[in-house]
Amino acid sequence: MSDRDNLFKRIIRGEIPCSKVYEDDEVLAFHDIAPVAPTHILIIPKAGIDSLNELTEASAVLAGKLLLRASLLAKSLGFSEDGYRVVINTNEAGGQTVPHLHAHLLAGRRMTWPPG
Ligand code: AMP
Repeated sequence: MSDRDNLFKRIIRGEIPCSKVYEDDEVLAFHDIAPVAPTHILIIPKAGIDSLNELTEASAVLAGKLLLRASLLAKSLGFSEDGYRVVINTNEAGGQTVPHLHAHLLAGRRMTWPPG
């Protein structure tokens, strides 16, 4: 596995610094290094789940916690009323570049549809 494959695992282990916005036993959230919106936060499980494809009944609650965290962060940052977008890219055609499940929380500008 390359360093790129291990990127988020290395961030979780503290080997690579991140701009942390939230952490608990199961979830870590940090600012994206190349933001595509004024606020761009990545929310990841600490457990090694490569993508949405690997979700199971057992990890469904954890996946829900990623969405809950997106909602709570959006609320605490003041974006709930105006709105925001949560994106989970999956595999190559979905635009996923880091093989560790993550949700993008995008806010602070008007989003367009359809996405690129
Ligand atoms: P995705 O393309 O959906 O797999 O998202 C991966 C995201 O990770 C991209 O938006 C990258 O900008 C972001 N990223 C890559 N390296 C880092 C890093 N060291 N710290 C924070 N975000 C990163």
